[in-house]
Amino acid sequence: MLVEANCIYWGGALMRLVYDFMENFKNNLPPASAASCPSIPDLRFVHCGVAVPSSNKEGPIYLLEERIDDKFVKYILNNSLSPVPHLTGRDLKIALFLCFSQHVQYLDTQENLFLSDFQGGGPLLTDPQVITASKYSTKFAAGNISSVLESFKQLHKCNYYCQWFGLTPYGDSTDVRETVPRSVESDMDLGTQSTST
Ligand SMILES: [Zn+2]
Repeated sequence: MLVEANCIYWGGALMRLVYDFMENFKNNLPPASAASCPSIPDLRFVHCGVAVPSSNKEGPIYLLEERIDDKFVKYILNNSLSPVPHLTGRDLKIALFLCFSQHVQYLDTQENLFLSDFQGGGPLLTDPQVITASKYSTKFAAGNISSVLESFKQLHKCNYYCQWFGLTPYGDSTDVRETVPRSVESDMDLGTQSTST
């Protein structure tokens, strides 16, 4: 339970890192260029806390999480760097944004970790997995599959978020099947980029 709470805590910090990266990137662009930024899903991890009964030291403890009322969606599995198959529309675009987020996290942690097992509903994410280099493999839940991190450069497929934010693809890693035409974006209600998540 503490491990799960710790993963959510790390999830919030690592997504904050992604939104800060985007904000800094846009701030260094001419206004006209920054205005062409693709729409950014406004996501954050649920608030949570561990509840420990004060009167019964032998009793159970609880992980309390913010409730998710929207349709629950699995975006990326814990052993994958690609969207879950068969996602479409808004769900697919969020999944692609989260793949881009993995690329940012991988780079900003000097290739030591990134988030996976993305899932949630509406603007909320929950229950992530922190994927680390093998030297940190005992620090998180059992789903911490270090081999996925070690294969990141072969498995990650850059998409149009990676391209727009200037991330250098690894070899010829761009997958055109994961490139959503700009004309489709206006049909996807993702909200606006937020700096408050
Ligand atoms: Zn990428």
